Amino acid sequence: MSEKNMSCVDCAVRNCEFLNRMYPDFCLTTELTEEQTREVLDLYGQEENHRTMCAAAEVETEGYLKECRVEEVIHFAEKIGAKKLGIATCVGLLRESRTLAKILRNRGFEVYGAACKVGAVPKTKVGIDPKCEAIGVSMCNPIMQAKLMNAAGTDLNLVVGLCVGHDSLFYKYSEALATTVVTKDRVLGHNPAAALYTADSYYSKLMK
Ligand code: SF4
Repeated sequence: MSEKNMSCVDCAVRNCEFLNRMYPDFCLTTELTEEQTREVLDLYGQEENHRTMCAAAEVETEGYLKECRVEEVIHFAEKIGAKKLGIATCVGLLRESRTLAKILRNRGFEVYGAACKVGAVPKTKVGIDPKCEAIGVSMCNPIMQAKLMNAAGTDLNLVVGLCVGHDSLFYKYSEALATTVVTKDRVLGHNPAAALYTADSYYSKLMK
């Protein structure tokens, strides 16, 4: 592979993390201009970004190798001062979202949930190929989920198992910060990393 096509995914050095090694020739860090760095650092100076970044760093540090993601999400929400949490859930994970809501309410949060099929819109109404009705006639409605949460005034939105792409639209239209509690993978128990861990063995078909 030519160096011009190489980027961080091809790096085995990670000097940006360790700061005590050599940067590779194709390094993104060494190619940054002062202006790019300054622009981004200025953005971290904005109030919401600053609060979010500091809270995320503290959650990572304090919970490192101790807290599961649900615990980290709770601590993050507390640290940014969120009171009302939105749960954008897949209907297939409503049971898990109910459990999450119970946990969050026990911690004093107000919870507002919207399921992916909210609005009960037929898939064909928005031009989805009728063949997609094979797994259900009602479309997922992530924009509506986001709009409902925006109207409800949620402080932080939590994604529970939205489909690939539906999650993209939810993030696009969510006015509040959003984080993921469950990443949907129907085949691998919502653990997509399993396919990557086993890409040189059981999931070698991905490499073809
Ligand atoms: S920024 Fe540079 S050192 Fe860091 S992972 Fe990317 S290429 Fe490697």
